[in-house]
Amino acid sequence: MSDPTRPAGPKIIAIANQKGGVGKTTTTINLGAALSEMGFKILVVDLDPQGNASTGLGIEVEDRENTTYELLLEEIELDEVVLPTSTNGLHLVPATVDLSSADIELLSNEKRSFLLHDALRQKAIDLYGFDFVLIDCPPSLNLLTVNAMVAAHSVLVPLQSEFFALEGLSQLMMTIREVRQTANPDLRIEGIVLTMYDARNNLSQQVEDDARSNLGELVFSTVIPRNVRVSEAPSYAVPVLSYDTNSKGAAAYRALAAELIRKNDKLAA
Ligand code: ADP
Ligand code: MG
Repeated sequence: MSDPTRPAGPKIIAIANQKGGVGKTTTTINLGAALSEMGFKILVVDLDPQGNASTGLGIEVEDRENTTYELLLEEIELDEVVLPTSTNGLHLVPATVDLSSADIELLSNEKRSFLLHDALRQKAIDLYGFDFVLIDCPPSLNLLTVNAMVAAHSVLVPLQSEFFALEGLSQLMMTIREVRQTANPDLRIEGIVLTMYDARNNLSQQVEDDARSNLGELVFSTVIPRNVRVSEAPSYAVPVLSYDTNSKGAAAYRALAAELIRKNDKLAA
């Protein structure tokens, strides 16, 4: 990655949408796996107390000794919490349900919005040579998501191809604007990706048309189809790219990774 406008170190992307079940975790895991397949070194930060990204990447609860929670509370350093996963080149900072109380516990901390930012800017991150950090956000616009947006260079928004998909997007955009005005003026929108797209369903097509006419270039050309292999993969604790490498879901996430790299190369040029 050679973006001259960006200081050395990984590109940090927050995967956010305050709606649950839209494909945030699935996109974090599989975009991460697709980028690592391309040879990039990836760190996934699980910032959701549900810990689905940790489970989906094969890290059992009993193996999550240090987590995002201790990292945010400044009890440990980044290098004490990064775990390898079964996907080559893809590491994880796991989360447990402990994180659910962080939102309130951190309120009295005057650096409360900057804790993840500070943790990810530690020297330790350079040791691993990560190219990308992908932050899997909780389904809320709470302090955790704000921490992700303050730490990140950009926000990637998964949008489920169903009725009401665009509702709530204005609230998300407002939060991004607020973060820009206060803590992180350079925060960009990486793009909006349509997930669980069903080509046989008129509604999916309609949501896509709406999204493209309202949001234009922000919407990735790549759409992620609804694909049963994608939903099965987490129960085998691996990305769909290893669970069924020839599936439509795996192909779509490879295409998304390639498109993201093309967009970033264009920005850097
Ligand atoms: P979020 O993190 O936004 O809550 P998830 O990534 O957990 O959403 O996805 C919600 C559910 O939808 C999960 O059960 C997941 O397996 C399923 N899912 C996500 N993307 C797809 C897809 N492309 N095809 C089929 N199922 C999907
Ligand atoms: Mg999730």
